[in-house]
Amino acid sequence: MARLRGRLARSGSPLGARLLAVLSRDHLSEDDWDELEETLLLADVGAGPTGELIDALRRQVRVDGVREPAAVRALLREQLITLVDPALDRTLATAPGLGEDGLHRPAVVLVVGVNGTGKTTTVGKLARVLVADGRTVVLGAADTFRAAAADQLETWGARVGVPTVRSDRDGADPAAVAFDAVRSGRETGADVVLVDTAGRLQNKAGLMDELGKITRVITREAPLTEVLLVLDATTGQNGLNQARVFAEVAGVTGIVLTKLDGTAKGGIVIAVQRELGVPVKLIGLGEGPDDLAPFDAADFVDGLLG
Ligand code: GDP
Repeated sequence: MARLRGRLARSGSPLGARLLAVLSRDHLSEDDWDELEETLLLADVGAGPTGELIDALRRQVRVDGVREPAAVRALLREQLITLVDPALDRTLATAPGLGEDGLHRPAVVLVVGVNGTGKTTTVGKLARVLVADGRTVVLGAADTFRAAAADQLETWGARVGVPTVRSDRDGADPAAVAFDAVRSGRETGADVVLVDTAGRLQNKAGLMDELGKITRVITREAPLTEVLLVLDATTGQNGLNQARVFAEVAGVTGIVLTKLDGTAKGGIVIAVQRELGVPVKLIGLGEGPDDLAPFDAADFVDGLLG
């Protein structure tokens, strides 16, 4: 998996540069505090968490009489880590199990989110991680809406060396493809089935119908162990609004934050976890097969601070 720290640092991390510039001043003036606040807001940390962080930091600086820039930076690091919440359980539920009949059931991971956020790419990268870990994987191309989606997934499957279950017909029933993929995983004794879905945000009722049906038919074959919501870190508040709709209709258990390599807005991690009440479990750091990393609060904050 990608090494987070170097990758985020390579993206320039202007957040870190700006914060450090402010924090390296000998004495923090009111203007400096305002600049600190603005920098955090620009990084999409969100108004609530930014306010809390600044308050806590000011209190510590005052109460503990902290002056040296390095010490203030250490306090900021600590506060950011607390906001990111290192205690959240970020493990992926990908262990297969046995059904009531005593027969094999694969773990099933449903990947949801708006088109273009990086769902198909994430499925490919995740398959690679699982295969490297010695697991057998089946991919399900339930994005039957976008013409090239199944081809794209199949290409990832071939690259990683895992089979892809798909329909040859555009507009086929996504639930039927998802069902076939999970059945194939069950019959072949696969450990994990990863199901890619379409991200049509037509309306909430339509989305609920589509994802609801996929979920229902999958669980006839095997329990759904994870619902991963893929969110593009560069889309800010707009992405967050869309994410909220998916979280409401799909029973999301984890977030994959993609395209963190191309943005200084990593603070969205804090905002999205707080908004949705679901942990960020994985992060995307590029378009290549190795550009997926497990999320780690301390590593992440260190990357953010540069
Ligand atoms: P989908 O429509 O949600 O399935 O999105 P895709 O997987 O097709 O990805 C959309 C675009 O985003 C593609 O060009 C991907 O290569 C790119 N992409 C996906 N994840 C990342 C990432 O973590 N970083 C970068 N830079 N690009 C990404």
